[in-house]
Amino acid sequence: MTVTGRPQHIVTRFAPSPTGRLHIGHAWSALMAHDAARACGGTFRLRIEDIDGARSREEHVAGIVEDMAWLGIGWDGDLVRQSERLPLYQSALDRLKAMGLAYPCFCTRAEIAAEVAASASAPHGPDGALYPGTCRALPEQARGERMAAEPHAWRIDMAKAVALTGPLHWMDEARGQMAADPLSAGDVVLARKDAPTSYHLAATVDDADMGVNFVLRGEDLLAATGIHRLLQALLGLPTPLYRHHPLLAGPDGKRLAKRTGGIALAELRAAGADPLALARDLRAGVFPVGISLAGA
Ligand code: GLU
Repeated sequence: MTVTGRPQHIVTRFAPSPTGRLHIGHAWSALMAHDAARACGGTFRLRIEDIDGARSREEHVAGIVEDMAWLGIGWDGDLVRQSERLPLYQSALDRLKAMGLAYPCFCTRAEIAAEVAASASAPHGPDGALYPGTCRALPEQARGERMAAEPHAWRIDMAKAVALTGPLHWMDEARGQMAADPLSAGDVVLARKDAPTSYHLAATVDDADMGVNFVLRGEDLLAATGIHRLLQALLGLPTPLYRHHPLLAGPDGKRLAKRTGGIALAELRAAGADPLALARDLRAGVFPVGISLAGA
């Protein structure tokens, strides 16, 4: 694969989870995706990633819409909400099940942690210890009985999936060709116990369904992109061009998080900040006092 440049009609998106207030880092990310589309007459979509019923809140959806309006970032088409698209994810999961690549997992977080702690050589990936594979080895009969009686997630059999697709690559506009390494993430969850999908499955299916061909997002999702590339290959979906931007850090040098005080757009708005000046500065890579590129 060679660097092909940006698609002619760019479709980008901003895909926040409504689990907290948007902060300066979100604004920067949204502006970059928005501007990439606007610069060439492309399309910019807004997707609310609200599959986590316990943590997603309506007030945060409203906050996202207000923050976007305040910053002057308009989006095209309807606001997409993942909670309204569950059948789409279900059919993707059904396909993976039919391919023999998904298995039910009954483990609780505590059981997984105990298993990992008991093993001297538990493999670790970019996001910590990998799922030790406990439920992958369950005999068919036990699996069937437990499925009828116990809540369960669905996990991908990553080794089997990778054996099927062979080596995969994707293109990062800033980094060039990247080798996908989904094995390093282990048997990730495709559908949670408390939601009929996972971030990885929903985001991959949605990007394809919404025609997104240029994904601009934070570099904390670099490893996730390898998983999404694998799911694209398994489900026969196109692979967008990607660009992973650096993250922002606060005065303490730590990555901005939804809980970091003082940097939420709602707070800046309440304090009378000028949104046009803020957007202009962020576009120029000029960050408010105390905010800098993480790791810089
Ligand atoms: N919803 C994710 C987040 O808030 C972003 C997902 C993505 O851009 O693919 O971090």
